[in-house]
Amino acid sequence: MLPGMQELMSIGDFSGLSGLSPKRLRSYAANGLLPPAAVDPDSAYRYYSPGQLQDARLIDALRQAGIPLAEIGVLLRDRSVELLDGWAGHVRADARRKQEALALALELLTAADTRGTRTGGNAMPYLHCAGRTDIGLVREENQDAIVTAKELVAVADGLGGHAGGAVASSLATGLLSASFTGHSLDELAAAVRAANWVVWQRAAGSPELEGMGTTLCAAGLVGDGALALVNVGDSRAYLAHEGSVRRLTEDHTVAAELVRDGKLTQAEAGGHPQRHILTRALGMGPGLQIDAFCRPVAPGDLLLLCSDGLFNLVPDDEIGSQLLSGRTPRETVDALVELALARGGDDNVSVVVGEVCA
Ligand code: MN
Repeated sequence: MLPGMQELMSIGDFSGLSGLSPKRLRSYAANGLLPPAAVDPDSAYRYYSPGQLQDARLIDALRQAGIPLAEIGVLLRDRSVELLDGWAGHVRADARRKQEALALALELLTAADTRGTRTGGNAMPYLHCAGRTDIGLVREENQDAIVTAKELVAVADGLGGHAGGAVASSLATGLLSASFTGHSLDELAAAVRAANWVVWQRAAGSPELEGMGTTLCAAGLVGDGALALVNVGDSRAYLAHEGSVRRLTEDHTVAAELVRDGKLTQAEAGGHPQRHILTRALGMGPGLQIDAFCRPVAPGDLLLLCSDGLFNLVPDDEIGSQLLSGRTPRETVDALVELALARGGDDNVSVVVGEVCA
């Protein structure tokens, strides 16, 4: 008999007290998570100490929460509450993603095909669109991409050296166009998450594309007179309704977040060194925080989407007055792009205008 064995329990007794099967205990031992306190060299019987009960229960609770064994090893070593908080965040985000996907699946299963009713009837609104994306006067490549369809408009501003930015923005807009059917805001948001995943995977798979990402601001008509919007990054959407223009999106930049937190005034933000540093972009990781919301729209409303190459040179009030000038979407788009170019065109400039038509 080994010294001190009288305090130890057989694997059977320990299993009974901990509620974990001997098979599970052997698996935890094999993974180095919960080695037996002693192993009889002659019989190879395993013994556990009463002090190991709490760890056994902890390991099992972490397993039930879906945390991988390798991570549990780290948690047992560091005993870090912050690490566990991080996992709690992952679990919540994962559950939210699954719930969104389920809600979308449920809608798709039960709802009528909105695209069918859209083309069949004449009551569904559509967008009369014009768009233009211009390389500008300074950059060597246009990394912006736009979408101008009857039900969907979007602007994406790619980031990353070499070809990366252009690949990211065109991947994102291409995937969005292909997967949005005008069904719902959830569908639009799911399409953006899917685009994020694809951009991220593509960047991870090609060294020359490493670090690429893109902003994405998109608006799609869903249901009766509702506009679904999603935004990630610092491209923007504005809406003109009955003679007044409102910005619909918030920028996800360091300076804009400081303003929202009350740590910086709007005026200070204008000259802030980090006003162009994004806090969110597609392609940075598997998860993505998206601003997603609906706004009612009526025939005659004008929607404008643009990249920062426009609003850094043409301020909001001027964008508004151009939008309200009574010209066609094509004329408004050209006038705004020309304004940005006349002021130096130091970035790629993209503008999309869509008029809501019945
Ligand atoms: Mn830009």
